Amino acid sequence: MRFAKLTRHGTLSSAMLGLVGGFGLAVAGGLLHPSWGTAAEDDGAKTEYYSTDPAFREECRLRLGRIHEAILKYQKEHKALPRWLSDLVPEYVNDPNVLVCPYVHKSGIAKKYRDKFVVFPVFADPKFCTYAYEFCLQPISGLPAVTCRSYKQSQMVLVGFGAPIVRCLAHRPVLNLAFDGSLYESDVFWEDNFVRVPEDEVVLHDILLTVGRADTQPVPRMIQPREAQASARFLDLSKQYNATMLHLGQLDLAGNLLQTFPEGLTNIGGVKFDVRGLIHLTGRNFPIPFPERVDGILVEQKCAQIHFLHGAMFSAAPGTRIASYVVHYQDGRTNEVPVVYGRDVRTQWHELGRKEEGEAPKPAWISPPKLEGPRRRALRLYRMDWKNLRPEVEIKEIRFVSHLTDVAPFLVAVTLE
Ligand SMILES: [Zn+2]
Repeated sequence: MRFAKLTRHGTLSSAMLGLVGGFGLAVAGGLLHPSWGTAAEDDGAKTEYYSTDPAFREECRLRLGRIHEAILKYQKEHKALPRWLSDLVPEYVNDPNVLVCPYVHKSGIAKKYRDKFVVFPVFADPKFCTYAYEFCLQPISGLPAVTCRSYKQSQMVLVGFGAPIVRCLAHRPVLNLAFDGSLYESDVFWEDNFVRVPEDEVVLHDILLTVGRADTQPVPRMIQPREAQASARFLDLSKQYNATMLHLGQLDLAGNLLQTFPEGLTNIGGVKFDVRGLIHLTGRNFPIPFPERVDGILVEQKCAQIHFLHGAMFSAAPGTRIASYVVHYQDGRTNEVPVVYGRDVRTQWHELGRKEEGEAPKPAWISPPKLEGPRRRALRLYRMDWKNLRPEVEIKEIRFVSHLTDVAPFLVAVTLE
């Protein structure tokens, strides 16, 4: 079964082999060469390169947790990610053995393991390290302008903060440390954990599409079509979506995708919205390459009120203006509607058990308790109702602008009344 799966991906991506070569394909497929994957799965003699022992996996999980803490500290001080995990030693990780998986270390295969994998860019740390560092700056073979890091950032546009930053391939299932610090298991191809419909699989396995070198953009291909009965009062944001709803999901420890978000034509707190994707803006030093502003959200109607369903990634001091909706009327006049942190929105993840400053505003959507995931996080979306003081004039369009604070704002849906 697994053999068939790997082979199928090989075939799927073979159309681009001429451009990116087998090595590029290797990077797409969880940074492993497919031939290695199939050989290791099917040839018992080679299974020494990984363990299925849960005890080793647990030990490795703790180690990955330490590595994540060290990366966060490094990032805070350097305002950038490390080039290699070994950059963390000795200031952030005092023992270089932390960069060696406990299974690889204890089974005595460290040198052999390292020699086998070092040819792959993510394993090419100049010091001894058995973990795959997905955000290294090595170029992807055949795509010289694309580094492992920029490819990973493009993948984060599609799946959000669940994309792995460090992986340990010395286990089956494979262990992944996500960019946001969560840990989850996956197959060799972690991308499959984010597949909801067959089209997602096609997009997530295509490097050229992901890095924007293909004719079509990847995000629209992962957005569900608008329901035919959706009226023009539910603004159609299809042309502006630049992120998928996967940014609002999370994975459990086994790597199952928890759909914490509402989707489709949905009633949220008494107002119906067309929820299918996100218009995500950037913030200061935001790790995902989103735009500072998005123009041309067409309205072309009169209305008495506008309901915005939105949210924010990361937090700021209450009272901080994080974004604005700029309403453009047909007569050329404009009206700026500010989005204020602590009054209109708060960060999208509420970590249960953590005390927060104040309760306001009240979220319009909180994910159900059974979807809290291993980190006990609930998703929060907020609704802002804006009264239009010029209901007699047609509104032409809305522009969504980030104020480049520590918060990256996102818009989910807009409904007119
Ligand atoms: Zn490990």
